[in-house]
Amino acid sequence: MILGCSLGLLSATGHAADAHGSDHSAKPAPKAAPAAGADKAAANDLASRIREGVDRNNQAGKGAKGEGATVIEVRMPKAVTKPSGALANPVDSRRAASTEAAHREPNSREALRAKAMAMANGEKAEGHEEKEDTHGHHGSAHWEYEGVNGPAAWGKMQPEFSTCSLGRRQSPIHILDSDTLVGPAEPLQVRYMPSGGSVVNNGHTLQVDLDPASPNTLTVRGSTYKLIQFHFHHPAEEKVNYKGFSMVAHLVHRNDQNQLAVVAVLMDPGPPSPLINKVWTYMPLDTQDRVQVPPGSINLSELLPQDTRYYQFLGSLTTPPCTEGVLWMVLKTPMTLSTEQLRLFAKLFPNNARPTQPLNGRVVREVP
Ligand SMILES: [Zn+2]
Repeated sequence: MILGCSLGLLSATGHAADAHGSDHSAKPAPKAAPAAGADKAAANDLASRIREGVDRNNQAGKGAKGEGATVIEVRMPKAVTKPSGALANPVDSRRAASTEAAHREPNSREALRAKAMAMANGEKAEGHEEKEDTHGHHGSAHWEYEGVNGPAAWGKMQPEFSTCSLGRRQSPIHILDSDTLVGPAEPLQVRYMPSGGSVVNNGHTLQVDLDPASPNTLTVRGSTYKLIQFHFHHPAEEKVNYKGFSMVAHLVHRNDQNQLAVVAVLMDPGPPSPLINKVWTYMPLDTQDRVQVPPGSINLSELLPQDTRYYQFLGSLTTPPCTEGVLWMVLKTPMTLSTEQLRLFAKLFPNNARPTQPLNGRVVREVP
């Protein structure tokens, strides 16, 4: 089973969502335009060859792994295996995704079928995803950070994602000092203890789910929130006074009313982060991999700057379904991670940042 989009998290509105708010209960995206006829013919040819291959596989028994792989490698036309560059083209993006699936499970019927579908046309690839996408999901198209399923398309991919395009209080935002209200300070009251948990690659980020028993809390605006998970974006999603950052850690807290409060810690290259060192030590090897972290080894205090002054505003999850009503606190003082730590994450996630969203007259408090 995929872990990426099935991590239970109730958002501010009680909407079932994962760490990033994914909810895969609805229909996939609108159909893409069909590809050229040549591709279609090639796909039909491939499909029949695949049937042969699968039949041969079946005859040879379940252990015949090498044979299935040969079917793919030898008989795939070059056009399919060739890297297709930008993922802006729907068909190209399907190919890339399908190649990934085939790479992981070169013999599986799904992988073979995915290749044929991807070659046929975008429409059929969508139909394929409806039943079983390349990550093993059932019943939904997959949102991404680039290409046809990128941020601009999220709002139209599923009815449940409509807030991504229709919402007026979306995150992330570009924080400008000229727009903020400087008010009396409410210090950030965090109580973070050495905790255990697990690291998961959910396909969109690396995330640490803390043990439910972990006593990590944030108290703000008269309410106490419990830290449930934290994860990373590269580059940082937030911008402050026209400056971007290499990375941001989002510390996701939830109170008893299922409201969310997220603390964002901006990061730029510099001395290594001891906390990131621990998380990267237990890095999952695949999207289906979850790695347990020894009890007591995660201490979020290591991630926070001494100066915890912050910007505060109401926003949303920065991933589908982009649910609003999330209380954001972006710390003004950035922390550091080493270029090696950054490079490692960037290899897995070259870009997992949603572009900044319009402020639409929202108040941003600057807590001095
Ligand atoms: Zn995030």
